Amino acid sequence: MDASVRPAMDLSGGLEDVPVLFEGLTLPTFQYSPDNVQGLGCTVDPSEVTLPGCSCLSHSCSSESCSCLQTHGHSYSRTGTLLELSRTDFGCCSPVFECNALCACSDTCSNRVVQRGLRLKLEVFHTRNRGWGVRTLEEIPRGTFVCEYAGEVISFGEARRRQLGQKSEENNYIIAVREHAGTASITETFVDPAQVGNVGRFLNHSCLPNLFMLPVRVHSVIPRLALFAGRDIDAQEELTFDYSGGHTSQNPAELLSTQSDAAVQASRTDGLQRKACHCGAKKCTQFLPLDLSILN
Ligand SMILES: [Zn+2]
Ligand SMILES: [Zn+2]
Ligand SMILES: [Zn+2]
Repeated sequence: MDASVRPAMDLSGGLEDVPVLFEGLTLPTFQYSPDNVQGLGCTVDPSEVTLPGCSCLSHSCSSESCSCLQTHGHSYSRTGTLLELSRTDFGCCSPVFECNALCACSDTCSNRVVQRGLRLKLEVFHTRNRGWGVRTLEEIPRGTFVCEYAGEVISFGEARRRQLGQKSEENNYIIAVREHAGTASITETFVDPAQVGNVGRFLNHSCLPNLFMLPVRVHSVIPRLALFAGRDIDAQEELTFDYSGGHTSQNPAELLSTQSDAAVQASRTDGLQRKACHCGAKKCTQFLPLDLSILN
């Protein structure tokens, strides 16, 4: 076999368009899936197309004629970077809806970003004091989609059951994302990549992260938990996000959108006890964030 082709070095086993590199040490056992899968208690299959599409017979959709863009607004620039970043540092949270399988526009429509999947060269590596981590092997401009946090989509009850069943030394991977629209409606999404997941499960927490999470809807009402670069990131930098869903120092949990009075809150808790945080950021809280709302 050609020595330059080393499929064993691709964590995704060829499932991603770009190989996910890893150092070749002992990896945890899990099933790689680039996309969310239906887990226990989730009544909707995330791979099902449940959203309507536009009828634009164009190369790329424009807001003059596109029903998708007219309904949900422009989320991306023509080059595919997130637009709202310039307005609210780390704090954009208007709902993002991409063109989907039912849309008539081409695959290169600028309203298709997260659905294109992993595009960057990432590497899972062994950090000095925080177990596994993920670093980028190339520069990432601010606002670029980096990867999803994909796994089993489960119900609240199942998330609680799994979390309560965890031993204290086990990592909790479950992310809870709550989207508030107005005062009444709250959508909750629970994703657990422990058994079935993608490269996102190896991302470490930081109190001063370079990525932030944003729920993005493509074909399904179930959002994908997309991670975008919150600033320009250099090659070889470790990629991190705030497990507590913090976007700003003032109001870490929730942010109000300017467009739709929607707010997004994402959180992941590591076990039932606070674990020491080694992110090294100046404003580090010294402990990984603890959110017990998942247990109530
Ligand atoms: Zn389109
Ligand atoms: Zn369109
Ligand atoms: Zn569309």
